[in-house]
Amino acid sequence: MSLLAHSAEDPADSRTYLLNNGTAHRYHSAVTESVTRISAKIAGTARPFTGISVDRLAPAIAGVDLDAPLHDAAAALDELEEVYLRDAVYFHHPRYLAHLNCPVVIPALVGEAVLSAVNSSLDTWDQSAGGTLIERRLIDWTAARIGLGELADGIFTSGGSQSNLQAMLLARDEACRRELTRDGVAGARLTDVLPRLRILTSACSHFSIRKSATLLGMGAEAVIAVPVDAEKRMRTDALADELARCHRDGLIPMAVVATAGTTDFGSIDPLPETADLCARHGAWMHVDAAYGCGLLVSRRRDLLDGIERADSVTVDYHKSFFQPVSSSAILVRDRATLRHVTYHADYLNPRRMAEARIPNQVDKSIQTTRRFDALKLWLTLRIMGARAVGELFDEVVDRAADAWKLLHDDPRFEVVTEPRLSTLVFRYVPSADPDPELADRVNLHAREALFASGDAIVAGTKVDGRHYLKFTLLNPETTLEDIATVLDLIAEHAGAFLAEQPRPALSAR
Ligand SMILES: *Cc1c(COP(=O)(O)O)cnc(C)c1O
Repeated sequence: MSLLAHSAEDPADSRTYLLNNGTAHRYHSAVTESVTRISAKIAGTARPFTGISVDRLAPAIAGVDLDAPLHDAAAALDELEEVYLRDAVYFHHPRYLAHLNCPVVIPALVGEAVLSAVNSSLDTWDQSAGGTLIERRLIDWTAARIGLGELADGIFTSGGSQSNLQAMLLARDEACRRELTRDGVAGARLTDVLPRLRILTSACSHFSIRKSATLLGMGAEAVIAVPVDAEKRMRTDALADELARCHRDGLIPMAVVATAGTTDFGSIDPLPETADLCARHGAWMHVDAAYGCGLLVSRRRDLLDGIERADSVTVDYHKSFFQPVSSSAILVRDRATLRHVTYHADYLNPRRMAEARIPNQVDKSIQTTRRFDALKLWLTLRIMGARAVGELFDEVVDRAADAWKLLHDDPRFEVVTEPRLSTLVFRYVPSADPDPELADRVNLHAREALFASGDAIVAGTKVDGRHYLKFTLLNPETTLEDIATVLDLIAEHAGAFLAEQPRPALSAR
């Protein structure tokens, strides 16, 4: 019998599915087979997507009988080709230009294979040993790159949203602690403090900040949106006004969130000025560098100047460090603030372990069982090195600058801001004096038609209530020619749509 197949009849055969001393050869065969197939798949991807619709794909997946196993990895992989691989969205393709998804580096995939087989859980030392120390080294390495100082610490998380949530949790509990222990407020109660807390962040910050406020019981209304300038950076004069207003109204600005790389525009809020204002008002400064963290290893490190003054920082290695999902972290300036997520459980991490200085990462995390995602970054740094990662990111930032010139000089399109990082928000303009409703519909149509063709994938967003298109460049293999071709495709789809419009709309051209 093939090492990929198991006997369907023999119940004792169930145990041959478990990875152990006796079955390692089976694991090797099954995984080698899957890697062989996916390598061929990736080598042969002609388009980022087939363009399949939900309606056509759903029946294939619904039709799989989950109570009738195939007992054969090869057969299951054949089936997977039909229900997933053939129509998956491939981020490594140079014409995938949509979201903040990167092509992944091979050293990280080596890490992925190792970490899932060994399956360490990084909650406690007794479940991970060296994994704990490796994660800690990478946290220290990242904190040093940021410049957070001697007391810094942090933890790997599942993504930027979770990092932001944890940062807001720490900021909230620090603000409450300070308020309740302030001189002259004896008898203050938490229930009085919580409704007065506010988070200030730019109108272009990530939605996970508002979601965090909701999850933390503060309500989304506790987030004050600070206006942005023409470059989509938080206006620090407006921030100063809002902070003063909080003060006047008896509110507590528990945190200011600056974004270093907004999701839509890649804009970087003025970090030094934000830090000054936070210092003056005693507000926790959080920098959301989920996207911009790649600058830490790039020749553009200076764009992050001021980040070293943050109280906490979000980094998403799975965006600009070319790591597979998930790989993210939250870093804090003062490790003592992590105590707000420390709980001791007798079965897991009793207090005496902390006293005995046994490192239990669960003490710093809002998760318990947690993947050893840090290993991917470790092997990336050990095999290719940080400088090579930075070069990849610099290349996409260079490409975005060139693509901006292309768009700026193309009368078919208008582009919102010149990029600092690697996104471009633009739209097709149907005529010299466009009807805004028509412009919206043309751009929505062009994006959908392109997606359905599978030739390329671009994103969409809204600017001042109007529909725009967005390129997110994270693939150094994407050439300027690829970008020019995609712009032509967008213009073709837009032109075809306009040609089908009733006369009045056409006469506007
Ligand atoms: C992507 C992003 C997030 C969310 O990160 P996930 O890893 O998707 O959870 C947060 N902030 C910014 C600025 C982002 O671009």
